[in-house]
Amino acid sequence: MQAGRDGFLGRAAGDPALWADFWTLCDCGGRLAGTASEARAMDWAAARLAAIPGGALRRDPTPYAGWRCNEARLENAATGRALACAPLVGTAFVDGLELEVLDLGRGAPEDVARAGAAVAGKAVMVRHEFPFASWTIHRRKKLQEAEAAGAAAFLIVQPEPGVGPVSGSSGRAGGKGIPSLGLSAEAGACLRDGSRVRITIAGEDFPRAMANALLLELPGRGPGRVVLSAHVDGHPLGESALDNATGVVAALALARAVAPVVAGLPRGLTVALFSAEEWALAGSKAWLTGLAEAERRAMAFNLNLDSLCGSPRVTALTSDFPALGPFLRDAARGAGFDLGVHLPLMTNSDHANFATHGIPATRLVAGFDEPMSGLRFLLTGADTRVLVAPGELKAATLLAATLLWEALTAEEEVMAGLATR
Ligand SMILES: [Zn+2]
Repeated sequence: MQAGRDGFLGRAAGDPALWADFWTLCDCGGRLAGTASEARAMDWAAARLAAIPGGALRRDPTPYAGWRCNEARLENAATGRALACAPLVGTAFVDGLELEVLDLGRGAPEDVARAGAAVAGKAVMVRHEFPFASWTIHRRKKLQEAEAAGAAAFLIVQPEPGVGPVSGSSGRAGGKGIPSLGLSAEAGACLRDGSRVRITIAGEDFPRAMANALLLELPGRGPGRVVLSAHVDGHPLGESALDNATGVVAALALARAVAPVVAGLPRGLTVALFSAEEWALAGSKAWLTGLAEAERRAMAFNLNLDSLCGSPRVTALTSDFPALGPFLRDAARGAGFDLGVHLPLMTNSDHANFATHGIPATRLVAGFDEPMSGLRFLLTGADTRVLVAPGELKAATLLAATLLWEALTAEEEVMAGLATR
């Protein structure tokens, strides 16, 4: 087994295609689900998976609430000046609606509560936060609270000057919702309490849209599986390079590295490349729900790779499975890595849907609790390949490989113990 491990880790760390794959995926563009950019990336990823010897590739359709925006415009109603903005994915549409701005600062639930009746009918303005920290209040939480309090529109301001507006999911999924826009720091600085804005968001809903999950099955000796997942889709503003070209190309490298030996390992590997992750995790949710109970029960562990670079420090988000942290940290330490662990469930990537089904699930993410790391550029036009250094991508891939090997080869009792909550 030791020789198998060394060979596997050597192939993963030395994968000659890792960096070229990363560039190719970034070349596809931001990969918003439902666009030509995403279709190109999914076709490319399918071809890369199909080229792995010994695997069986399939595409499972995953329905989601599709949406397309043709125009998003925010103007200072007094001056007619256009302000830099981006529609939140799936936002409600509106035609030239004029509203008064109410600045709620951070936009925490207590800020909304304090404003009381003043929220009703206003364009509520809040601040975007660094997404990977224990203290983060998620954008959708702020949006939900503002909408519930009667806000007529939602404006979320990106704090970093010079990188344009911020994107993100509205979570509306074809429902009623309110018009929701991400703003640049500069646009936010032009608005204050009492400012009047005019909002136009034009586009279409596609209630029966279909994304795909790409599945590569690499059978092991026994019936158990480890699911290695990453989402291919992204946002239109940059190249979705950190989030999540890094995770996708690492998953491909791991699949290539394990293919020659997996048939002799206790568990098989399922590689799952999802789309519509940026749509409130719709792709993996539909896929998991559509499986037979026995298929889900065969899943011993989900390792979800999402945003692996931007800082050399990588953290495992262990989804309220207490035994997962020590299991992964020990495996990482054995290979010389200091892995961070964050136990509470964070519903910020596809691992959350596995956890919901009781499957021990972890997201690996770089830069957790490091607000000044490159991860602060996620969801903006600055998430491009220049944020990623080759050595950092290689190291993160090797760390992921180390954890994957442990999950593929650990004793049955150890794996069963991971599922305890
Ligand atoms: Zn992501």
